[in-house]
Amino acid sequence: MELLEERIILNLKSRFFDMISTDDHQLKYESILEEMIMMIKQLMQAEEVTLYHFDERIQQLVVEASTNSDVKQNLVAVNFSNQDHRELGTCQKVYRKPFYCQAFEQYDLLIPVRNNGSIQSYLALKEEGQFFSKLTEKVLEKLSVEGGLFLQKAQKLAKLLVEEKRYKQLFRVTEKVHSTMNMKSVLGEIIDTLQEVYPTFTYILFLSQDYNDYEGLPIKEFNYTSENQTIMQSYVTGTIQVEVSATECKANLYAPLKGKQGVYGVLQVTSSNALVFPKNEVEFITVLANIAGGAIENAQLYEQSKRLIADLQLINETSHHLNSNLRLSETMIYMSEQIVKSLAAKEVGFIQFASDTSQNYVQQGSTDFFFTDEAKTYIDFFKERILKENDSLFIGDLKLPEDTNADSSFKSAMAVPMSQSNVLSGFVLVLHHEPYAFSFDTFKLFLSLIHHSTLAFTNTLLREKLEKLVVTDHLTKLYSRKYLDEQIQQSMQFDEGATFILIDIDNFKLVNDTYGHQIGDEVIIQVANVIKENIRGTDIGARWGGEELAIYLPRVPIDTGVIIAERLVQKVRESTNPTVTISCGVTCWKTEDNDTYQNLFKRADNALYQAKKTGKNKVVTQLC
Ligand code: GH3
Ligand code: MG
Ligand code: MG
Repeated sequence: MELLEERIILNLKSRFFDMISTDDHQLKYESILEEMIMMIKQLMQAEEVTLYHFDERIQQLVVEASTNSDVKQNLVAVNFSNQDHRELGTCQKVYRKPFYCQAFEQYDLLIPVRNNGSIQSYLALKEEGQFFSKLTEKVLEKLSVEGGLFLQKAQKLAKLLVEEKRYKQLFRVTEKVHSTMNMKSVLGEIIDTLQEVYPTFTYILFLSQDYNDYEGLPIKEFNYTSENQTIMQSYVTGTIQVEVSATECKANLYAPLKGKQGVYGVLQVTSSNALVFPKNEVEFITVLANIAGGAIENAQLYEQSKRLIADLQLINETSHHLNSNLRLSETMIYMSEQIVKSLAAKEVGFIQFASDTSQNYVQQGSTDFFFTDEAKTYIDFFKERILKENDSLFIGDLKLPEDTNADSSFKSAMAVPMSQSNVLSGFVLVLHHEPYAFSFDTFKLFLSLIHHSTLAFTNTLLREKLEKLVVTDHLTKLYSRKYLDEQIQQSMQFDEGATFILIDIDNFKLVNDTYGHQIGDEVIIQVANVIKENIRGTDIGARWGGEELAIYLPRVPIDTGVIIAERLVQKVRESTNPTVTISCGVTCWKTEDNDTYQNLFKRADNALYQAKKTGKNKVVTQLC
């Protein structure tokens, strides 16, 4: 080689070296190419240098870089076939004008740039003066070899830089995922990263759960009836799927959003100008899709655990409340409020079966709707199903049978049977106008809530039933007020007369305050015992309420009643410990007076009031 040629090659090599050894991290493959051809243009004193590349996929010659901006704009060169490419590859190392193929006819020199033996690119040069003729084949061949080596190095470098950038982005996304439970920002970050890395692709996230508040993100709801079979395939198999439309020159890549426990959706990546996704791009997209899957899973587990804790708290609080000896009506009102609040129900009904289940009634505490005629249709419908299936019902699109007149204004319903010791005692029915208003989780919560409350509920129910049946007062063992009332009313119908004594312990508050409630109770028992000892079997001694007691003496004239009362006043004063006194109001009725129970009681109460007013520890009588 001559001196000039050697200088050219040396110069080229040293400038190539300078380019690659730069510290510039913004270095891009495109700009390396630009610089490279500018350098060749200078060294070769050329008018134009263009680097062409034969794209196997589209079978066309494309411009990779050019010193001529007009050429650069026409990205694809015409009249160059696969055949031409192969021919050029097998023939000489360097071509001088005239070329046999049309695509390069405006050039004076064509230097194929090889990579591992096969042609990777073509350097096409247009001469400005007569410089090319001075160069030997040898130097041009050397130029081809050096160009090939340089391109290889530049490609590797560019690839490394791209990868470095991607891993930085991956790192950023992962960091974000681990720093927040906010799904929207995690998914936003993933989409942003994809857009930054592949700005020409478009993205859609198909999520299998409904996410309404993700405005601004390309999210679509995905369901199992999806028409797109490829998305479905990706979702079900958890694998990457590619769908190519050669006619539209478009390709879709579907990456499943996989977590550890399942697939949460599919990421769709659409490329509108290429038919294949290179392997490393697929890898990168897969990693991001997995990060998204993991993030969705984390957020879901977090939400789930929060919900479970809230549910447990609710169940705990409710059963605690129910076990605190409330009256049945209070129990039901509380339950009803809890259900409306925690399940977001519109109506709650507690339907109680009578012993033979043919009859049923709506418990107090049910919402107003359940006391209307319209509710009967719903109650009957659910009662029939519960009796038949003896299982809970969860319905999102309720349709009442056509022969019913109700217009099915409630679309969502949940019904849970209430049974205790395998006996079905009724059911709880929850309704909502909107279809599919309750989620399955809500249904499960409803089930637990009812299961945990049925025992308390049945207990309250039994206790109240028992209270009605009981005729004796538990503290004094005298008759109950209810029994006394019934007996007086019965006696006033069938007897000819009777005496009624109302008794109140004097200054009883003081006893409690001085000795405490327990001693107070004992004093009430002592007074009750005095009563029991001084009346006969046909007489009815009863606890009227609190520290007030009463005696009904059927067919006993008032004089005898007054004597008994006087005796009681004396005995109580003498025998009680701590000592208390009592005051008595006495009255009577006779058939001819046409008296009423209310008046009888009123007179006795007035007499007692007089006794209290006039010094206590005495008997006062008030006649009809
Ligand atoms: P008075 O002479 O006017 O009747 O005075 P009193 O202190 O008895 O007045 P009052 O009737 O207002 O108070 C009755 C008290 O009896 C109030 C209540 O706390 C107490 N008491 C009611 N029932 C019971 C009970 O079953 N056991 C106990 N230990 N105390 C009761
Ligand atoms: Mg009193
Ligand atoms: Mg009193």
